[in-house]
Amino acid sequence: MIGGMTSEIYPADPGDASAAENAPRGRDGSPAVPPPPPSLLSSSSAPPHILEPAAGLEEWLRQRQQPVWRAKAIRRWLFGRRAASPADMTDLSKDLRTRLAADFRIWTTTIARHSRADDGTEKLLLELEDRQRIECVLLREGDRRTVCISSQVGCAMGCVFCASGLDGVIRNLTTGEILEQLLRLQQLLPADERLSHIVVMGMGEPLANLDRLLPALATAQDPEGFGISQRRITISTVGLPKAIDRLTEENPGYHLAVSLHAAEDPLRTRLVPVNKSIGLAEVMAAADRYWEASGRRLTFEYVLLGSVNDSPEDAQRLVRLLGRRAALVNVIPYNAVAGLPWREPTPGSQERFLDVLRTAGVNVQVRRRKGARIDAACGQLRRLAAQAT
Ligand code: SAH
Repeated sequence: MIGGMTSEIYPADPGDASAAENAPRGRDGSPAVPPPPPSLLSSSSAPPHILEPAAGLEEWLRQRQQPVWRAKAIRRWLFGRRAASPADMTDLSKDLRTRLAADFRIWTTTIARHSRADDGTEKLLLELEDRQRIECVLLREGDRRTVCISSQVGCAMGCVFCASGLDGVIRNLTTGEILEQLLRLQQLLPADERLSHIVVMGMGEPLANLDRLLPALATAQDPEGFGISQRRITISTVGLPKAIDRLTEENPGYHLAVSLHAAEDPLRTRLVPVNKSIGLAEVMAAADRYWEASGRRLTFEYVLLGSVNDSPEDAQRLVRLLGRRAALVNVIPYNAVAGLPWREPTPGSQERFLDVLRTAGVNVQVRRRKGARIDAACGQLRRLAAQAT
């Protein structure tokens, strides 16, 4: 949970903890991620999300002899004018509004909990249609309004210090659910403010759900969507070479952040079990290919765990691994997770680690407390709420 949270705006709904217990386990990094429930993709039971590509809004309009550009107008209503229901879309005919409301949904989630920190950070715990829960966060920093969104329920990567993967992966999020996080967070802003940046650093491994994530990010860039340019969108990955290569081929304009956490295979495999079948050399080679295609600076993330990966020797190994790459290292002091044995680094060990990197000329950034709280806290709120209910 985010430190310094002062107010719970909504109480948590009673949860369904048994769903998580019976869910498939993904700690071995198994790629078999269950698909979202069919009802979220088609109108088999409840109406689908209006932004779900499979819901076919354009085709729906065509069948009703409506011009297809109305889909754009509807997106403008949702993203730019914050319509909460078709009834708000006042330049559409009344009949069309009624039919849209009957055949599509804008809100497939409910807010199970809404927390606000003193520094303006807000965090939503969203309950999905199948009662699974995900988190998303709004960060306010100067003019920036950054959202941190989830890509999966749970995570299969099994990073041993992270709360998101403790129960394995439950399922991929749909495109509609990914976009709905943006809509929900946008609703928290006053009318004259808009979302400016997206970081896909919430729950889940985004590169394990590219098929649903990329259409959502494309809509976010659309001038009829949020109009957020690609260079303001960061995708954080544990480092899946095949998926990085797919991004290199299809869409290398995003800012990519690769989570390293260790500079040699034995320690990395201990901390990031999925590394066992991949290996650092492959991760770095794929990151290099992405860099060559994108020309954008690469970021490597390194969570500092006290007495585990925070010694000056660990820093030297990292310097050697990075070699001559013009990369930014994002050092994230560990945010303790209840029940896990890992500790924050001491201020002294953190400084010594940073000194080695800086002396070697590595570009380093320590994620400021606010950012650390948000990114690192992903997965924790869901757990706390599940334990409490
Ligand atoms: N699966 C993606 C996104 C995960 S969250 C990835 O691995 O990059 C984004 C970052 O937060 C990752 O670097 C992750 O290792 C880190 N993180 C997770 N739990 C944390 C914690 N408790 N404290 C600090 N950082 C954490």
